[in-house]
Amino acid sequence: METKQFKAESKRLLDLMINSIYTHREIFLRELISNASDAIDKIYYKALTDESVSFDKENYYIRVEADRENRILKISDTGIGMTKEDLDENLGVIAKSGSLKFKKENELKDGYDIIGQFGVGFYSAFMVAETVTVVSKAFGSDSAYKWESQGVDGYTIEACEKDTVGTEITLKIKANTEDENYDEYLEEYRLKSIIKKYSDFIRYPIKMEVTKNRLKEGSDKEYEEYKEEQTVNSMVPIWKKNKNELKDEDYDSFYSEKHYGFDKPLKHIHISVDGAVSYNAILYIPEKMPYDFYTKEYEKGLELYSNGVMIMNKCGELIPDYFGFVKGIVDSEDLSLNISREILQHDRQLKLIAKNIKTKIKNELEDMIKNERESYEKFFESFGRQLKYGIYSDFGSNKEVLQDLLLFYSSKEKKMVSLEEYVSRMPEDQKYIYYATGESVERIEKLPQTEVVLDKGYEILYFTDDVDEFAIKMIMQYKEKEFKSVSSGDLGIEPEENDKTSEAEEKESKELFDSMKEILSDKIKAVRSSKRLKNHPVCLTNDGDLSIEMEKVLNAMPNSEHVKADKILEININHDVFKALKEANENDKDKLELYTNLLYNQALLIEGLPINDPVEFTNNICKIMK
Ligand code: ADP
Ligand code: MG
Repeated sequence: METKQFKAESKRLLDLMINSIYTHREIFLRELISNASDAIDKIYYKALTDESVSFDKENYYIRVEADRENRILKISDTGIGMTKEDLDENLGVIAKSGSLKFKKENELKDGYDIIGQFGVGFYSAFMVAETVTVVSKAFGSDSAYKWESQGVDGYTIEACEKDTVGTEITLKIKANTEDENYDEYLEEYRLKSIIKKYSDFIRYPIKMEVTKNRLKEGSDKEYEEYKEEQTVNSMVPIWKKNKNELKDEDYDSFYSEKHYGFDKPLKHIHISVDGAVSYNAILYIPEKMPYDFYTKEYEKGLELYSNGVMIMNKCGELIPDYFGFVKGIVDSEDLSLNISREILQHDRQLKLIAKNIKTKIKNELEDMIKNERESYEKFFESFGRQLKYGIYSDFGSNKEVLQDLLLFYSSKEKKMVSLEEYVSRMPEDQKYIYYATGESVERIEKLPQTEVVLDKGYEILYFTDDVDEFAIKMIMQYKEKEFKSVSSGDLGIEPEENDKTSEAEEKESKELFDSMKEILSDKIKAVRSSKRLKNHPVCLTNDGDLSIEMEKVLNAMPNSEHVKADKILEININHDVFKALKEANENDKDKLELYTNLLYNQALLIEGLPINDPVEFTNNICKIMK
């Protein structure tokens, strides 16, 4: 028998194949099973187009058998088989795909389910096998042939016996080396899990003998092992099933089967799109944050399938960072894969799918705000920050997508409200969307700065997350209403007639405020009479873009450059302390210094800012008790 040589270029390619195209050895099984599935597809297609061929689903399957002792792994199918010429052409020439040819000859459109197209997958078998033997009998032929190869040295073809139509591929698994364990490809459990991982949704049964336990006959405690043939793949993927057939529980159990999370998802989104790009997807919005969500280790992404075969475990490009919490799978027939099917060739289709998915998620979340508020609030508690980061990052370019998904605590409603809800009930004379920042709702409620806004009957949004104010600065305005901090210089609220300070009063206090400013020197930018304080004597506000809250956040960051907001000390001139200040200014400059420092430190404490010298502060308090 003559040994045929692989074509010269094929030799190099084979070498490349075995050593570098694939990153995971285990995918050889995916490739051989995909070929088997294609072979069955072809006979199925023949039956569709040729009346003399019948296709009885029962008779079509793929079988995987392992023989540990002899280091043999067999993959057989009842597909269309190969003639002697097919063996020579399809397996003798690397990068020649009989499947692609079949598709072309039969003018099957791209979406047809046949998987093969590159003509290299078969050779991945040499990553784990020292000898590969293919015995095949083609449909409509009486004779069978055996193709055998040990890799680069070439292959042989000879006639042999085989009763039934189809192909049987026998791999003699390599011996273990110091670095590589090949035994695993003979282990039932491992094989099963590789099949589950990559080939779970191959449409024909993949059968395997599996070991099970049962009670020994006549005994009620002794167990014995026995073997039973089982179909190990699920065949019909849940995302290809009709939505009407599926219950919430089906989606929930798929979620936990896939280990997407330990929680029960709040919501699933089942998408079937037929259009410029066709795909099916099942997406989940989790309830709980994964423990590593805000760490570098967390990797966003969706599982990607092409024609029911798993291509990528986590395809990050399918999902924007701000929706990084979404879990699920996407299956599309329209992807251009590269030769190893591990990387996508062109991402045009992928981009289209990603865009589509983004919109679906946004719509679904917006729908939840309106119709499933309780669920949404749970979701927002876990992932609201992620949405706010999403607004803040990329220079605010995603704010349109995200701004309607935000919730903030409302002074009026005493619960979380959306910006839309806020704006829709704004009184006509209200110019701005007001917000107040602080560590917690309880603390913000006590902020003196909120007094005048609340007095006006206006609603205030409470910002308790570090990122809140930064995100809002990116949004700038919502429905043409600007955001305004209750601590900002100009609140846009006209004082009531009887609250207005007369010019004489202003003039009179100017001298006092100038002295106070001198005492505090560059700790503050100015001392002013307050238009916002009602009952409290004093507060800090800020001039300019950098707020006091932002100063706190930025300075708390590691390696931050020290920033400083322009602070204004506001004094309530209707308060008794103002009289005391005036008196001190006229009669006792030491007292004025004491009072000024005390008031300034009080204002710092109210803001949650550290005071420079707590000991001096308490000593000063004792001084006034004398
Ligand atoms: P591809 O699947 O991308 O076409 P492969 O290297 O995996 O490339 O296979 C090469 C060709 O060999 C296939 O296109 C097909 O024509 C033929 N082939 C491989 N395995 C089988 C099989 N089990 N039954 C029938 N034909 C097969
Ligand atoms: Mg193939």
